[in-house]
This record gives sequence, C-alpha cells and structure tokens, in this order.
Amino acid sequence: MMKNIVDLSHPLESGMQTYPGDPHFHCTPAAELSRDGYNVQRLSMGSHSGTHVDAPYHFVLDGKKIDELPIDMFIGRAVVLDMSYKGAKGKIQWEDLAIFEDLMKPGNILLIRTDWSKYWGDKTYLDHPYLARAAAVEILKRGVKVIGVDTLSPDATAVNGGIWDFGVHQEVLGSGGIIAENLNNLAAIQEGEWMISLVPLRLAGCDGSPVRAFAWRA
Ligand SMILES: [Zn+2]
Repeated sequence: MMKNIVDLSHPLESGMQTYPGDPHFHCTPAAELSRDGYNVQRLSMGSHSGTHVDAPYHFVLDGKKIDELPIDMFIGRAVVLDMSYKGAKGKIQWEDLAIFEDLMKPGNILLIRTDWSKYWGDKTYLDHPYLARAAAVEILKRGVKVIGVDTLSPDATAVNGGIWDFGVHQEVLGSGGIIAENLNNLAAIQEGEWMISLVPLRLAGCDGSPVRAFAWRA
C-alpha cells in the first residue's frame, strides 16, 4: 500500500526558501526533554510556507478562508500537464495547454509540471515558468477549481525591479478556486492514474495553509 503513495511536498525546515518578503519558518524548542522532562517546540511561519494552498481570501476581501472550504475540494483526480520543456521565466499560454482540454473538468485537480522544483532553495527558483492570465481563464471556464504548480507561484515572480502581476491569483481565487504552490516531485505521477490530497490544516480565518501533499494510485 505505502509503495503506491508519492510524497509531493518539500520539507518545512529552518532556513528554507519563502516567497520574497514572507515570514521565515522556524521550529525552536519551547520545552526541552533534558530540562522539562518533555519536548515541545514553537512554530513560527507565514501561511504560505513550503508546499501550501491559497484560499480565495488571500486575494479577495470577502473570499472564503481556508477553514471555510470543504475538504473534498482538496481531494481529486490528479491531471499532470507536462510543461517541463519551458525554460526560465517561460510563459505558459493557452496554446500550450489546449491539447489537454479533455482533462479539464470539474473535480479534477490540474497540476502544471515544470520540474522547477529541482531549484527549490536556490535563487534560480525565483525565475520559474509561469501561467498566462488568459490561460487560467480558459482552464477555469472548463470547471476546474484547483490548480497546482511545482513553482513558487503560478504568476511570474518579479524581483530586481520587475513588474508585479498577480493575474492568475486574481482569476483563480476570484472565481472561488484554490491554488497549490511549491509542489514537489510531479514527474513521479506523470504516468498512470493518480488521486491527490492537498488537505490543509483547519486554520480558522487564515488565507492559506501548508499541506503534506501526496498522491496515490487511483
Ligand atoms: Zn501562496
């Protein structure tokens, strides 16, 4: 049974990469076995740390918060679209995705595979391929509610003076959908039929949550 499960997460650890400007992740001792008789650790992190999901409230004032979304929204058939041929800052257009149109339907979780996860922790990770806003609109039109990426963001990450644009976030979250970011290991579920879980923590009032993303054979 276990050998049919694929971990799609990065580890949460001190010093790990975050979105530019986001809080850093720390897990530090609050009680220690040698002194207190037991271990308890204090967690400090942003809501978008590591492999995580974005709730509509991330970009929409009256959007649903992470604890207000039904669990079944985060579980579905995984559809991996291979865009790994795209290079640094490569734009993924609807023309690239249209051949997969039949797979875009309600309940399916659409995963855009770029293999940029191999640069996790490196500054190259910021130069990830990204989705065109118009392509997101076409995907949403076909009833998909959840889009996952193995990059920092489905939008381009502008650093060093680039123009910030959150068009894909605005379209997906604005339609009541969910975005999963910093997924790992998508190549492992390219072949065959897979189900995926992106179930978040039940963080009351939060705009996102880290997840232990994983897939299993359908
Ligand atoms: Zn996020």
